[in-house]
Amino acid sequence: MFTGFELTSSHLVRVGEGAVPTVNTTGGAVDVRDLGFVLSHEHIMICSPEVRTVYPASYDQAVSRQRCIERLAAARAAGVGTVVDTTTIDLGRDAKFVADIAQAADMQIVMCTGLWNVPLYFQWHPQAILEEFLVGEIRQGIHGTTVKAGIIKINSRASIMTEDQQQVFRAAARAHRRTGVPITTHTDALEQSGLEQQAVLRSEGVDLSRVILGHCDLGAVDYVERLLDAGSYVSIDGFGWDHKVGFDGAVRDVTMSTSQRIQRVVSLCRAGFSSQVLISHDAAGISVFPLEWFDGVFPNSRFDYIPTAVVPALLEAGVSDADIERMTRTNAQVVLGQREAY
Ligand SMILES: [Zn+2]
Repeated sequence: MFTGFELTSSHLVRVGEGAVPTVNTTGGAVDVRDLGFVLSHEHIMICSPEVRTVYPASYDQAVSRQRCIERLAAARAAGVGTVVDTTTIDLGRDAKFVADIAQAADMQIVMCTGLWNVPLYFQWHPQAILEEFLVGEIRQGIHGTTVKAGIIKINSRASIMTEDQQQVFRAAARAHRRTGVPITTHTDALEQSGLEQQAVLRSEGVDLSRVILGHCDLGAVDYVERLLDAGSYVSIDGFGWDHKVGFDGAVRDVTMSTSQRIQRVVSLCRAGFSSQVLISHDAAGISVFPLEWFDGVFPNSRFDYIPTAVVPALLEAGVSDADIERMTRTNAQVVLGQREAY
């Protein structure tokens, strides 16, 4: 039986007998030691699935495929080994498309099960139905493919969850405990929604060190430290989303600059939390935005920005090689590995 990891400097060693944990990817189960440099929160393709179904002009398969392959190939060339695709069904997840892209770009991609918004169907069915759906995507495969989900993605944005969202969190908690795959969440740091997420998951018996709380770039430092003190991982995953500009070109709301995100990572490392921090872009191979507009406004929102620009900047800002290794490789090996049911 696998009993745990021991971190010696920057190396991961196996403790106890038996196999090292694996992670489900589009190419099958991968030994955690073979994940390489991991981007823990990205999207291959985001679309509006219902629009795509009834309005084919909204979606160009050839352009989407080419763009996703190019963007992933750039990441591959920059040293990225694995991308976690946190796109849920209601955001247009397409396992066949992603598996094809992964193969063409020679990239390991971890797909998720889970929900972002709660579709009416699941609002009107018992929680156990959703739980079975999640477990089926992890054990049997996604949407008629052999691609098994490697992580469960869930979302709550307001400080207090709706009843429907609570049901999703409880179903996800149970599916996680039955299958041993980890949970990753979308939070709103300004609403501090990670706190209630942890409370609901904890009430379902979830080990909070198996949970990644996303989008912790913004928000008060003491809020993020509370999440970390409770044992979870946090991801600083907005690298490249430097501006928010409207279609008229006017700046509506500058969220955070790269240097501000770097400062957040630096301060978390200084506070001793580097073994619980992941960094990523929350970028997409292709999304719902008009491409020309998007590329003009967010030139850094791409899969190779962290290895080519952010890591050098973190080193420059005083983050150690060992901490970089943790945030880009070792932490992902520990948290992404599928473990025994509990
Ligand atoms: Zn995302």
